[in-house]
Amino acid sequence: MSTALEAHVFSSGALHDALRDKRLLVLDYDGTLAHLDIDWQAVRKDLSTTAAEFNFISTFRPLWPEMARFRATKGSGPLGVLLQVLSSHERRGLERQRPRQEMVEVVRSTLDRRSPQLAVFSSNLHATVSQGLARLGLAQISQIVGADDVDRWKPDPQGLIRLVRRTRVAPEDALFVGDSEGDERAATLAGVDFMWA
Ligand SMILES: [Mg+2]
Repeated sequence: MSTALEAHVFSSGALHDALRDKRLLVLDYDGTLAHLDIDWQAVRKDLSTTAAEFNFISTFRPLWPEMARFRATKGSGPLGVLLQVLSSHERRGLERQRPRQEMVEVVRSTLDRRSPQLAVFSSNLHATVSQGLARLGLAQISQIVGADDVDRWKPDPQGLIRLVRRTRVAPEDALFVGDSEGDERAATLAGVDFMWA
């Protein structure tokens, strides 16, 4: 059994322990707090069709580097059109989201405390995250950085650094919990401890 795989098994006890000396808990959304039911193949197809109307040919694989290339070539206005395409898929995915109950319970148990503060750093759109949190009973979490809040996407740490600064917490006093290599990389680049969801 590989230790790398074992390290990816989430334990709510380990998270409780890790939070003891932390002042900020940042969570990824999709795959961490809940699984959004998004058909990514359909998303890429719709993005390709819309981008072609701007004479931009792409399979949107990988998604965010291609979004960045689109913005660099076509500008922020046309990017907004692609984000609307993404938004309609995310809205549908949200209606059928499956909560990660064990994770949600840990987060709920910290809601009434002053510390740690809670935040979400996600590659989904801000509105998707905010509506998703409300459905999970976590509407109190107001510190959110979504894909439309940054101009450099994960694994770039821009959003994570912004949350750390906004909550006036030192990077070493924060913990980021996520489910992807990009999440882990962003944490490393921001100087924030990371835990697999
Ligand atoms: Mg994720």
